Amino acid sequence: MSLFESDQFFSDKSPLRDSQRNEGLQYETRPQQARMAHEIAASLARGEHLCIEAPTGVGKTFAYLLPMVFHAFETERPVLVSTHTINLQEQILKKDLPFIERLLGREISYAVGKGRSNYLCLRRLSQIASLEQRYFAGEELSGQISTLLNWVQNSQNGDYTEMDRQLSRQLWNLVCCERGNCLNKRCRFYQKCFLFKARRRLADCQVIIANHAFFFSSMAMRGKPTAKDEENQNSSLLPKLSAVVLDEAHTMEEVASSHLGARSDTLSIRQLLNRLYVDERHPRLLANDNCLECRRAVNELRAQAELFFARLLDWLQQQSQRPQPLRYTVPNHIDNHLDSLIAKLLFELKKLSGSSEPEAEDAQELKLIIESIRTHNEALNLFFSMRENEYVYWFERFGKEGREISFNCVPIEISKQLNELLFNNLEKFPVIVTSATLAIAGDISFFQKRVGMQNCPSLLLDSPFDFERQVKLYLGQNMPEPNSPQFLPEAEKQIEHFLSLSQGRAFVLFTSYSMMNELYENMQGFFAKGGYQVYVQGGEYRPRRMLELFRENEKAVIFGTASFWTGVDVAGEALSNVIICKLPFSVPDHPLIEARCEMIKFRGGNPFLHYSLPEAVLKFRQGFGRLIRSKQDQGMVVIMDCRVKQKFYGRFFLESIPKCPVEIF
Ligand code: SF4
Repeated sequence: MSLFESDQFFSDKSPLRDSQRNEGLQYETRPQQARMAHEIAASLARGEHLCIEAPTGVGKTFAYLLPMVFHAFETERPVLVSTHTINLQEQILKKDLPFIERLLGREISYAVGKGRSNYLCLRRLSQIASLEQRYFAGEELSGQISTLLNWVQNSQNGDYTEMDRQLSRQLWNLVCCERGNCLNKRCRFYQKCFLFKARRRLADCQVIIANHAFFFSSMAMRGKPTAKDEENQNSSLLPKLSAVVLDEAHTMEEVASSHLGARSDTLSIRQLLNRLYVDERHPRLLANDNCLECRRAVNELRAQAELFFARLLDWLQQQSQRPQPLRYTVPNHIDNHLDSLIAKLLFELKKLSGSSEPEAEDAQELKLIIESIRTHNEALNLFFSMRENEYVYWFERFGKEGREISFNCVPIEISKQLNELLFNNLEKFPVIVTSATLAIAGDISFFQKRVGMQNCPSLLLDSPFDFERQVKLYLGQNMPEPNSPQFLPEAEKQIEHFLSLSQGRAFVLFTSYSMMNELYENMQGFFAKGGYQVYVQGGEYRPRRMLELFRENEKAVIFGTASFWTGVDVAGEALSNVIICKLPFSVPDHPLIEARCEMIKFRGGNPFLHYSLPEAVLKFRQGFGRLIRSKQDQGMVVIMDCRVKQKFYGRFFLESIPKCPVEIF
């Protein structure tokens, strides 16, 4: 039924052809869009997964939203659409779904799915407000509680992002909803609870919009074996789904990795201890007379933890002044000095928890802290012992002056876990994975293998754009090698030349801040003389503002690194030139990339051919794709890196982009 409806929608009888319903716009048939919608509707009907590369211009959002909406109507269960960027989420929520409602003449209920820590917990707020003295005597946070109490009077959703005034994150962490710290139906605020209202909204709606981080952390939570099934169910905000679309799927491996491992850090451990007990003036949860042993155990652990963390920080600073990730490679080279003290504290806390009234306000919080401390200790033990073989472990410094340390344990490859969680999942909902760039020289298998969907059907659509007419490609075959000392002066000359040709209106894409900043400094005279407005990443403006200014100003240029290669959309003449300074090979200095390369080598593969090259090609395709966003766009792409012509692997880059006229320089 939904397959028929979807086919009808993109047929000659499409409501899009009725220009009045189509808001006065002329509907242009796009065979790629109709094909994509048909294949998705057919996969949903068969309950099968599908991986689709859909180039820009196909209209892929519409091509999946329609069959997904029909599928939700038919199954009477919600579907979920997950994206990487907020921009795309907003487009779907504010533009696409309301438009589809008008076209279909039928209401669609939709809502945004967010993690529980976005919602205020009324019980925790009331607890903190009544115990203000015990928590914040003399601290500046106490003033903010009245702001929060005023805000909550009028708040519909209790959602942090809806607060006009930014609240300190430290205070929000004390009052937001937490996994394992919820009394559920026993809570006196249950009827008014923002979290449960959000959960009911999601369960009742037809389309849930989420981001990859929320989706993967929810899936990871469901996949974790917990002692109590009920808790497992309650820990997820997501209802039972009937289908999922993962758009902008080229980022899914990275996002999923960060949610499928284990992590601990010094700041969280300190905060957990402070939630238990600070000192006589701030006794917090351990205020009663029967807490003496617990208080002693907290103090002992805190003293040892501070010593241990200070020694680690000293050692990390000796390895590198910059707070960059440092791989930990020798199992048990460092002992988890906190293990026995944590065990002692947990023992005391459990005794206390057993003797307290289960309905008491503090009892649930105590249980959560016990669970959290245990989880941190497990992560620390896993980290220092390196017990899991196919994991990579690294320290990372963060926070003020890089004085906090995180301990990261991440699976080197996530294909197996993703396969179990998503593509071989017990709930068996079909998953549609899509992006504009998934294939390398027409082959999608690299991507499918890395995300565990190697046995799923795939489809590569061609582009509706006329690249032969719309793009001219300049290849720097005669440029010096990018690592040679002659490269920078020559690059400066060429960038100036091509910026003059396009009168600015250009993105200049870099792979490192150092090269970008050096060229930016060296070219100040050229910019001033030519009246160019240049916005450099990491400078005065944040990327979002840089883009606004770029669109508003004549002769504008963006010098950008990572975030401008992907997910940035400037249609029309404002962007007429994309200059790629170097092929975007990742430097294998991040422990995760290094470990992935080692694993490929260990299995007899070639890390360059089987990892670095395909990764770089996909990123290169993203960069190239910034230029043409509609059939009217025209412009040039300049590739300054001579390796694209001189090295054997250059052809993988050139064969992965559409054919267009080429000029060598
Ligand atoms: S039901 Fe749970 S999340 Fe909601 S207010 Fe009560 S304790 Fe907080």
